Amino acid sequence: MRKPKIVILGAGYGGLMTATRLQKAVGANDAEIILVNKNDYHYETTWLHEASAGTLHHDRVRYDISKVIDNSKIEFVKGTAVEIKTEEKKVLLEKGELEYDYLVVSLGGESETFGIKGLKEYAFSISNVNSARQIREHIEYQFATYNTEKEKDDTRLTIVVGGAGFTGIEFLGELGNRIPELCKEYDVDFEKVKVICVEAAPMVLPGFDPELVEYAVAHLEKKGVQFRIGTAIKEGTPDGIIVAKGENDVEEIKAGTVVWAAGIRGNAIIEKSGFEAMRGRVKVDANLRAPGHDNIFIIGDSSLVINEEIDRPYPPTAQIAMQQGEVVARNLAALLHNKELETFKYDNKGTVCSLGDDDAIGVAFGKKLVGTKASFMKKMIDNRALYMIGGASLVAKKGKFNVLK
Ligand code: FAD
Ligand code: NAD
Repeated sequence: MRKPKIVILGAGYGGLMTATRLQKAVGANDAEIILVNKNDYHYETTWLHEASAGTLHHDRVRYDISKVIDNSKIEFVKGTAVEIKTEEKKVLLEKGELEYDYLVVSLGGESETFGIKGLKEYAFSISNVNSARQIREHIEYQFATYNTEKEKDDTRLTIVVGGAGFTGIEFLGELGNRIPELCKEYDVDFEKVKVICVEAAPMVLPGFDPELVEYAVAHLEKKGVQFRIGTAIKEGTPDGIIVAKGENDVEEIKAGTVVWAAGIRGNAIIEKSGFEAMRGRVKVDANLRAPGHDNIFIIGDSSLVINEEIDRPYPPTAQIAMQQGEVVARNLAALLHNKELETFKYDNKGTVCSLGDDDAIGVAFGKKLVGTKASFMKKMIDNRALYMIGGASLVAKKGKFNVLK
């Protein structure tokens, strides 16, 4: 008898949690399992701000997928998915196609530019290993070029970060530590460098604990970061950005580097494949399936789960993607064994936001933390994600142990 075919698209947090849990939950004869990913490595999206600033080598944030899956139970296909043909139960890849009986879509998110002119062309985004390398190298290039120019252009040394959400703030924290190193390496006067964060909302980290936000702002300002809150980026240009505070207060900020970190949307494949979506994210049912598609699970940044307490979607995080992956693995096993499906319930363990390698703010297990304690907690969270997917050996290889500063 033909075995049911399960295809998992994407080997990020959600996809790898699904794969590693599923390989334990089903026998080799129960199903054929195929995991598809663009690269043959997984990267820790949650560490990309470090690789982007150059405080962590890009190879530290990635590891081989084949090392964490049971290759006797899961076939890994290195390929790029381009569309899902739900009627034909097929996934089109850049090269070839795959049929499925059950599909898990865990393709992550994409930078959301809200149609703002010039951002796609002139701003960078912290999206994957290569975009992180590009940001790091671009900033270094600006520093290296500055001193070789006869007529000095100080705006080369201006870095604008669009958005003071968690991504923007974590990146600024790394820059705060990296800029003094770059100044030393490239003989640049620290006073010449400007790091400006532009945030449309009236506060940094909108909605987060005000006391912790105050701590973060004060510590980042001490490292030279300037905040322009209540100010929206309106346009990206070859020379920088145009911002507006209110209707008429429009200003140009010239900058050699603009990093857009002001939001994400679901993977473009979602809308291309005809799923009903909000900003590319599918509001999944209680079992994490796409409405109207009993054989398709959607998890991670391309999914949307409502927090019933406040009737708003949970923010897309690695934490929720991993929990969804565990539930989907169990639900797939249940489908194979004709058992009842489990309802997904998010267990929010808290949020810790790094402010560089040595500082952080956060709420974990209902307690507020700042400084080295929070930074220690953040590294434990990073190590836990490694442990959950690759066990102790992966933590030993890739873990963060520089905690006792
Ligand atoms: P991802 O982990 O992004 O994985 C998607 C995978 O799909 C990737 O391997 C990608 O290569 C692959 N892929 C994409 N398109 C295709 C395609 N067409 N074909 C084949 N493969 C494809 N969340 C937290 O909970 N805590 C944090 O501290 C935190 N820090 C963050 C820091 C930064 C700088 C950023 C950018 C995000 C952070 N997040 C954090 C959010 C978190 O990273 C995401 O919510 C999480 O990665 C989503 O998991 P995912 O499985 O949906 O996608
Ligand atoms: P976000 O949507 O959380 O924040 C984007 C910020 O950009 C908002 O503050 C918004 O007001 C601002 N913004 C939007 N348009 C703007 C404009 N035109 N000009 C200026 N500012 C503008 O996005 P994010 O920070 O990339 O985070 C994405 C997801 O990843 C979130 O769910 C977040 O919780 C998660 N994340 C978590 C962590 C952590 O837990 N440590 C770290 C990074 C990201």
